[in-house]
Parts: sequence; structure tokens; C-alpha cells
Amino acid sequence: MGALWNYVGLLQIDLLDVFEITVVAVLIYRVLILWSGTRAFQMLFGLVLLVAVYAAAGWLSLDLIRSILSQAFTYGAFALIVVFHLELRNALARIGRSRVLSALTRLQERSEAVADEIAKAAAELSRARTGAIIAIERELSLEEYIEKTGTRLRADVSSSLLVSLFTPRSPLHDGAVIVRDGQIVAAGVHLPLTQYPLSDRTLGTRHRATLGLSEETDAYVVVVSEETSQISLARRGVLRRNLSSQQLLDHLAADIPAPELSRPGADLDAESADRPDGPKRFDEAPSVP
Ligand code: ATP
Ligand code: MG
Repeated sequence: MGALWNYVGLLQIDLLDVFEITVVAVLIYRVLILWSGTRAFQMLFGLVLLVAVYAAAGWLSLDLIRSILSQAFTYGAFALIVVFHLELRNALARIGRSRVLSALTRLQERSEAVADEIAKAAAELSRARTGAIIAIERELSLEEYIEKTGTRLRADVSSSLLVSLFTPRSPLHDGAVIVRDGQIVAAGVHLPLTQYPLSDRTLGTRHRATLGLSEETDAYVVVVSEETSQISLARRGVLRRNLSSQQLLDHLAADIPAPELSRPGADLDAESADRPDGPKRFDEAPSVP
């Protein structure tokens, strides 16, 4: 018994080993599940049998059988890959379609669809010279702004709904629309104005409110000017002006959801960044999309 304890002591299993054993066990389990009921699974039994014969041959010193089987195992591994290339391909494809991955893909697709609708709405509002502010909530909640002044809504983001909300006669056209998780959750929201003087004095309260929210929160705020019909985007206290709807889409799609994707080669010629003249409150290189 003492010898056994010494042996166990020598094993020195730490947390990393437990983790590794768990991962390997899960992987083996997943492979068995993936292959259960397939040709490969039936072959697995044959393989286990051959390994048993190989072990028995070693135990009984049947050297000829052992050497034949060891050759068979060496070349058999390549043969197995060729024979089971279809199963392997299907198994890899099934891993690619696993629930976690497909959930992430769905999320990404939904975010891109939302960005697409917002960019389409901005283009249409710009064509019609209708002023608008669309604030997209990110990590920080915009609830306090909605509570104070907004009208709550619950509707999927669509370009036609956004356009109709900002139509000049619409009761909710004044103020900002708030988008959260792909839904329009409020309209007519009054945003905080930036306290900093702007370098371009032609920018009025709509743009000051756009910048203000982007300084106080991490929201992405799209603004369409009724005076110049320009589309601009404020992030972290920096206003990128005169964006095409495609550029707006690129900026939005690159950042929704969280992972930062850089999009080299985006056309920046038509853009210019406007930052409040005050102290810089957030880090962002003005010329990087
Ligand atoms: P534009 O280029 O469209 O003329 P602007 O920056 O010059 O915009 P104003 O002309 O002052 O700004 O725009 C006034 C409109 O901006 C208001 O009718 C209202 O819809 C919106 N607005 C003003 N203040 C706020 C605010 N604090 N929060 C949200 N929206 C606001
Ligand atoms: Mg104005």
C-alpha cells in the first residue's frame, strides 16, 4: 500500500494535467459521437481488435505477427486517411457548423444586417436632406438618456422605419433614435451637448449633441445634416464628416460586434475628422478608419 502511495506521489498530477486530460477526453468523446453509426465507427472496432492482437503477439513473443502488424499500422495510417477522406471532411465541416460557431456567425450576420439598414437609411435621409441622429449603444447603457426624454419603441432596425421616424412632420423626428441589439428602442431622445468649442462653427446643436454623446459614452453616433446633407459618424469624441453611405457601412460593420477589424485601403479622401478643440478625451487616430 505504501509503495502504491509512493507511486501516486511520483505522478504529481496538477491542475494543468487535469485540464489536459479533460480536453483529451472531451475530444475523444466528440470524435466518437461524430463518427457513431458511420463506416469509420465500424472500422474502429476492427482497429481495436488489431491493436489487441498486436499486444497479445508482443506478450506471447509472436514476432512475425508483431512485425507484420507494425508495418500494417505504419502504412495503414495513410491508407485510413485516403479511405476515410469523406468522413474526415464531413467531420471537419460538422465542427465548423458547431453551435457556438454558428451562433457567433449568426450574431455577426445580424450586426452586419443592422449596419446595412442604418447605412441605407443615412443615404436616403441625406438624399432627402432630412436631419437625423442615430445612436448605436455598445457596452455602456444609454438608458439614462432614454428615461429622461425619449419615447420607448421596440422594433427591428429597418431603413424605412428610420426614415419615417425622422420625416419632418413625424412627432418623434426631433432628437435621436437609439439602437440597442439590433432594435430601435427609443426615439426623440435629447442628447448631451459637447462642452468643447468646435473647429467648424457652422455645426449646430445636432452635431454638438452627436459629439456630446460620443464623448460621454462609447456609443457610435450617426448624424445626417439637413443643411448640408452630409453623413457623419462620431466615435469616442471624434466626428468623421462627409462619409459616403458605403464608408459609413464599412465603419459600422467593422466595429459591430466587438472584435476590431481594420479595413486597409478604405477610401478616406472624402472624409475629414472633426474633434472638439478641447483636451483630447479619447484615443483615436483621426485618419484610421
Ligand atoms: P444641421 O446640419 O442638420 O442643420 P446642426 O448641427 O446645424 O444640424 P441645428 O440646425 O441646430 O444643428 O439642428 C437642430 C436640430 O437638432 C433640432 O431640431 C433637433 O432635432 C436636433 N437637436 C438639437 N439639440 C439636440 C439634442 N440635445 N439632442 C438631440 N437632438 C438635438
Ligand atoms: Mg443647422
